[in-house]
Amino acid sequence: MSRDKKTRIVLATGNAGKVRELAGPLAVFGMEVAGLSDFPAIGDIEETGSSFEENALLKARAVAAATGLVCVADDSGLEVDALGGAPGIFSARYADDWAYLPGESRDARNIRKLLASLAGVPAPQRGCRFVCCMAAVRPKGGELAVRGVWEGRLLEAGRGTGGFGYDPVFFDEESQMSAAEMHRDEKNARSHRGKALRALLEGWEAFVSSE
Ligand code: IMP
Repeated sequence: MSRDKKTRIVLATGNAGKVRELAGPLAVFGMEVAGLSDFPAIGDIEETGSSFEENALLKARAVAAATGLVCVADDSGLEVDALGGAPGIFSARYADDWAYLPGESRDARNIRKLLASLAGVPAPQRGCRFVCCMAAVRPKGGELAVRGVWEGRLLEAGRGTGGFGYDPVFFDEESQMSAAEMHRDEKNARSHRGKALRALLEGWEAFVSSE
């Protein structure tokens, strides 16, 4: 990858946790990263796809068309074996049908529903994985889509205070830590998003020069 030519790209995400995880590694590769907050006219893009790939691609296409910039979008979530792969693409909205406890965050409510749904399921049956698909789309055409997967096991109670989303209940067997107990760099090195990002960067030069 050439590091002397700055490419301005836009990340199609309003999730501050994801922006924090992505901006650093992308900056190292000489990319100037704008976010959706720099383009307030672009409203919410509905994730109407039926897979992580479809959702990442439809967001990247919409934002590339609206900004005239190369756009990178991602879609990610947690697949739980004992739930037949749920919550999957609905991970962010998983517990929207549950009432909040006083002062509870959306992430905490999602985790509460997940742990309740898995009550009594023993450790060997608590397999799960984080999945992240990233799509890059050039405004004049040209697309790249990649996927990263991180296998783990659901804990019976949260551990750690870092990260976001389901991190406190996602246990990484290799490091014997929950994702919320990891330093951000350590999580990036192991995570679905880190893997997808490295795959994206590997394909980047061919993608931007394939006009
Ligand atoms: P998206 O914004 O549609 O990609 O939804 C992603 C949702 O999946 C987040 O709101 C989290 O609930 C969950 N998720 C994705 N990646 C992670 C992660 O790295 N840690 C914890 N939760 C995650």
